[in-house]
Amino acid sequence: MRRRFIGGNWKMNGSKELVGEMLGKFEKGMKEGVDVVLGLPSVYIHYGCGMTTIPISAQDISSEQKGSFTGEVSAEMVKDVGATWAIVGHSERRTLFGETDAVVNKKVHQGLSAGLGLIVCVGETLEEKEAGETIATIRRQLAAGLAGVAGKTDQPFVVAYEPVWAIGTGRVAGADDVQNMHSFIRAWIRENMSEKTGDETRIIYGGSVNAANCSALGAGKDVDGFLVGGASMSEEFVKIIL
Ligand code: PGA
Repeated sequence: MRRRFIGGNWKMNGSKELVGEMLGKFEKGMKEGVDVVLGLPSVYIHYGCGMTTIPISAQDISSEQKGSFTGEVSAEMVKDVGATWAIVGHSERRTLFGETDAVVNKKVHQGLSAGLGLIVCVGETLEEKEAGETIATIRRQLAAGLAGVAGKTDQPFVVAYEPVWAIGTGRVAGADDVQNMHSFIRAWIRENMSEKTGDETRIIYGGSVNAANCSALGAGKDVDGFLVGGASMSEEFVKIIL
């Protein structure tokens, strides 16, 4: 039985004040049997970890271990200040910062070596969807992004399916489409990693999830939770956890 997994992703939003206020509210809204992880901007990870038992995630980590990479933050560093998870390959990293599948794969391996749980994001753009390339895109992202990971996943490992056209747009994928994609992703993991990993990996959906649409979106048997952007910055997040 897979535990539900609800991730929040604040992106480049928030402040110390909001971190303090919301973590207090989220703590009260925790529910037995649901894993909740909150992705804070890297500068607030240490501060957030000091005030909550909710696991904190980095939103990104460097593809390099250490050295002359001005501005980068390594997997070891976020672990050192208390983060236990990292989001890797978010579509905003891919589309706005030119992150390739190969870079995503390097980040995945950095995260695994540092002992972080990983939320690996995949998803097609609107152009890819309209060209009928959704499955091919997801297959490519999984194969390249997760290369060399089979057998190394004793750390928690979550795949987030986030169609790029649904992120921050208010346009939500249909519940049946979400279930079908998740089922495809699970079959891919079973075939290419192991049956056990496929059965145990949480596959979560992201893209304009809110308190009103989460039960319909979460109905599919392969939908194990959500990665929530905008709605994770207010008390609405607690309603999604419940
Ligand atoms: P959104 O973001 O919920 O604001 O669409 C989701 C994400 O980018 O993870």
